[in-house]
Amino acid sequence: IFISLEGPDGSGKSTTIKLIADYLKERNLDFICTREPGGTQIGERIRDIILDSSNKNMAFETEALLYAASRGQHVHEKILPALKKGQIVLCERFILSSLAYQGIGRGLGIEEVRIINDFAIKGIRPDLTLFFHVDPATTLERKTLKKGGDRLEQEGTDFHRKVYQGYMELIKMYPKSVQIIDATKSIEEVFAQSIYYIEKIFER
Ligand code: C5P
Repeated sequence: IFISLEGPDGSGKSTTIKLIADYLKERNLDFICTREPGGTQIGERIRDIILDSSNKNMAFETEALLYAASRGQHVHEKILPALKKGQIVLCERFILSSLAYQGIGRGLGIEEVRIINDFAIKGIRPDLTLFFHVDPATTLERKTLKKGGDRLEQEGTDFHRKVYQGYMELIKMYPKSVQIIDATKSIEEVFAQSIYYIEKIFER
């Protein structure tokens, strides 16, 4: 079973994924917990290139291809082998992030970004995506845009607003596999909502 966590920056994905991992561990379930961009040695090096604030002139196309490259390696080296072993895969961000950030946020087009990702990941798709829903005003409050932050943290409110709208468009396109989590709630409540959907997919 492949479960991904998606949502804007500052929506609580990292905090919640740790709690979910603890929950699976307590229940003696066999799982791996990973993240994107990154997740493998090659992927983490690609992540560094993407986030390096000195790479100011990176073309949007280059950025999209780097994310897809990182994801391709991730699927090949980690996700697919784990799924083949019957492990649960818990992953922070997957293709939906690229469709929202590069496809819509950067304006490259959902279809274009989907094509390069399909090439990279060979049909691997999450069985369940938990979408952490918070409006841009709330995430901006949580994570005040830092001047000295990495390349993406230096992006303005406009970009993050577009990404949010992108996500909203995308979740309408995948109503079956995406479940919406109200991420404005407390950590405990967000965790409880997540577990509700995870348990449901286990029952299938
Ligand atoms: O989720 P995480 O904070 O690790 O992501 C690192 C940065 O990369 C974030 O600022 C996020 O907005 C950005 N990102 C992106 N496009 C993606 C995935 C992440 O711009 N496809």
